[in-house]
Amino acid sequence: MLVTVLGFWGAYPEAEGATAGYLLEIGRTSVLLDVGSGVLGKLMKYRMPKELDAVIVTHFHHDHVADLGVLQYAMLLDRKAGGKKELPIYAPPSPEAMVRAVEGIEGTTLIPIREGDRLEIGGGRFSFLRTVHPVETLAVRVEADGKAIVYTSDTRFFPELVAFCRGADLLIAESSVYAGEDGTPAGHMNAEEAGRLAAEAEARRLVLTHLPHYGMHHALVEAAAAVFSGPVHLAHTGARYGV
Ligand SMILES: [Zn+2]
Ligand SMILES: [Zn+2]
Repeated sequence: MLVTVLGFWGAYPEAEGATAGYLLEIGRTSVLLDVGSGVLGKLMKYRMPKELDAVIVTHFHHDHVADLGVLQYAMLLDRKAGGKKELPIYAPPSPEAMVRAVEGIEGTTLIPIREGDRLEIGGGRFSFLRTVHPVETLAVRVEADGKAIVYTSDTRFFPELVAFCRGADLLIAESSVYAGEDGTPAGHMNAEEAGRLAAEAEARRLVLTHLPHYGMHHALVEAAAAVFSGPVHLAHTGARYGV
C-alpha cells in the first residue's frame, strides 16, 4: 500500500497548500481519504476523480470536505460527457444538513458508514472507530497483504484509540497543537499525545498531520520522538509512504 499526502493543514490551507486529503493506493485500487480545501487540485496530479475507486470522508468539518462538492461536479460533468462511472462516497450519516447538501448528485453515491462497519475496496479491508470530536468522526484502519495503515482523522486522545491503532505499520495521526498545549476541548491531540499513541499502539512509523499554523513544526516531531522510539515524519504535500 502507498499513501500520498495531498494536504496536511488543520482548519485552512496556507498558500499553495491544502487541508486534509490522502491518496491511498492498494495495488491498482485508489481511495481518497478526506477531501479538504485544495485537495481536488492536488489529486489531479496523480488521478482524475473518475479514476478513483472510492472516497472515504471521515467527518463533515469543512477542512475535511471543502472540496467534496467540486469533486462531485467533476463526476457530474463526466456523466454529461457520456461517462458511466458512479463513484461511491462513504461518509458518516451526520450532521444531517451536511449530508443532505452532498446527496443526490449524478455520478456519485453517498453511502453511510459507522463505527464497527467493515468494507472491502480492492484488496483492502477497512474498519472504523468513532473518535472523540465535536461531530461524528471516524478513524480509518486499512489492512492488505499483512500490512496495516491507520489514519486517526480528528480526535482527542482516548484509550480505545490505542487498541484501534495496534501494530499499525504506518500511523497517520493528527497533531493539531504543540506539546504542553491542550487540544482536548476542541477534540484534538497535541504532538506528545500523537507520539504516546504510536508508542502504546506499538506502531512502526508515525506521520504527524493536521498541523497548526503557528510555531515551528520541527518541535512537533521532537515532542513525539521523545515518547515514541520509531521514525517520526512530518506530513508535507506530495510525501509518499509505502508499507
Ligand atoms: Zn474536525
Ligand atoms: Zn480537521
